Amino acid sequence: MTDYLILKSMKGIIFSFKRFSVHDGPGIRQTVFFKGCPLTCWWCHNPESQDIKSEKAIRKNILDGIAYKQEESIGKLMSVPEVMQEISKDQIFYDESGGGVTFSGGEPLMQHQFLDELLTACQKAGIHTAVDTTGYASKKVFQKIAEKTNLFLYDLKHLDDKAHKKYTGVSNKPILENLKFLNDAGKKVVIRFPVIPGINDTENNIAAMKDFLRPLKNLREIALLPYHNIANHKYDKIKMDNKMEGIKPLEKSDVYGLKREFENEGFKVTIGG
Ligand code: SF4
Repeated sequence: MTDYLILKSMKGIIFSFKRFSVHDGPGIRQTVFFKGCPLTCWWCHNPESQDIKSEKAIRKNILDGIAYKQEESIGKLMSVPEVMQEISKDQIFYDESGGGVTFSGGEPLMQHQFLDELLTACQKAGIHTAVDTTGYASKKVFQKIAEKTNLFLYDLKHLDDKAHKKYTGVSNKPILENLKFLNDAGKKVVIRFPVIPGINDTENNIAAMKDFLRPLKNLREIALLPYHNIANHKYDKIKMDNKMEGIKPLEKSDVYGLKREFENEGFKVTIGG
């Protein structure tokens, strides 16, 4: 494992901010989306986040009934104080709702030094932090970030390493190791399981997930995220191949059975973020 990016000027590349988010952790939150991801999931709903460099995209607009195309830039280099300025705008809502800020992506750990500084700044400002992560990072980096993070939203995509490599481009080994570390350290974690039809909702994978999680007694919260295709238009926009073309999205009711299975294992299970 390598540490991906060291930004000398301590600036990071952010591609979006989402204010008043209620699906990325407790209370009212602001979600900060980091650009860059070491994974290339077939079902990625933020394909514009994968490349760490800022890039151009074509946006289709309609004005007075006339369609036109406009070039836009995705990703902006920002300093820690600039990001904190955005985050601080909503501090009153965080305080009143038990919310805070969620660092997401992409993969925020890909810019770990920048993330580290933001977590320190949030700690100083008394802002609750969540890191929404794939867990794909070196042990050293992961443990350093864990010291300053209040909550992890942790993706678990496939237990079979061969399948994990096929559908995400990387091994699941560091992901599983880092998740075990969080369990042993007693950190607060919500596991996020993107349920992808025919890929990871198979009997074998669900059984393997249960076997893996059973001994990790401190991890008892799972959010099931049924596959949706609302990001399909983004693939056209950035001219990226969409490997899930034609796959039907899942309804909430499609994962009720799975919810019961994990509940029977002693998990608190939610559907959606
Ligand atoms: S980990 Fe998330 S952002 Fe990265 S490729 Fe997968 S779905 Fe996309």
